[in-house]
Amino acid sequence: MLKVKVLTVFPELFPGFLGFSLTGKALAEGKCALATVNIRDFAVDKYGSVDDTPCGGGAGMIMRPDILGAALKAHYKGGRLLVMSPRGKPFSQQLAHELSKEEELTFVCGRFEGIDQRVLDAYAAEEISIGDYVLTGGEQAAMVVLDAVIRLLPGVLGNAQSLEDESFENGLLEYPQYTRPIDWEGRVVPEVLLSGHHKNIENWRKEQSLEITNKNRPDLMKKYLDSEKVSVYKGTNLKSKG
Ligand code: SAH
Repeated sequence: MLKVKVLTVFPELFPGFLGFSLTGKALAEGKCALATVNIRDFAVDKYGSVDDTPCGGGAGMIMRPDILGAALKAHYKGGRLLVMSPRGKPFSQQLAHELSKEEELTFVCGRFEGIDQRVLDAYAAEEISIGDYVLTGGEQAAMVVLDAVIRLLPGVLGNAQSLEDESFENGLLEYPQYTRPIDWEGRVVPEVLLSGHHKNIENWRKEQSLEITNKNRPDLMKKYLDSEKVSVYKGTNLKSKG
């Protein structure tokens, strides 16, 4: 069972959307235990303040190292310590797989302008970013990371096959998917998918995956072509090393 602790000033936000659907079921079945720690419980004044103005000046407030430090001292029991931050290492499906294999994870959710550097240094925290944009708080980011991690825990996704074909799992984006009705307002499902010919279906899906990846994510396409040592993909000027 994966044990997760989330340090936050808004514990009431959890489990939030993690309480629904597949992740909600995983939490209810005890595949993951999610606990929150209210950083405000470690405040030293009667207002419960956890922040102060930045040394050197500038806008906003910074989370105090003594308060967050006390919360960590009381609740961090080892394992990976993940601090949500726009300047962190980009979160990825690969990192989600890595984290899903851990026994214990501790998340720190920032607020305001961020966290005093000394507490990050003292705990050798791993800063993780969910993308190149700035949110108001780390809670949203922690939930995104946890959603991606929890669905990878053993027994959470019904059909393991659905994992293998997914976007990012093989370095490419997923091919288009269709279901019934076969004809929707004159738009018909591609014929090959109705053929029952598995090899042709597989080839069509691969081709579509390549096309979509090339169109939407040339960076992933380049990585894929380099790793597969395949030669020029039609319509692109990307060349492989091999
Ligand atoms: N001043 C900071 C941004 C602070 S945003 C900077 O320029 O880097 C407030 C908090 O929201 C952060 O401490 C972090 O916990 C969270 N946050 C904002 N954007 C994020 C992102 N892209 N990924 C992960 N966490 C993020």
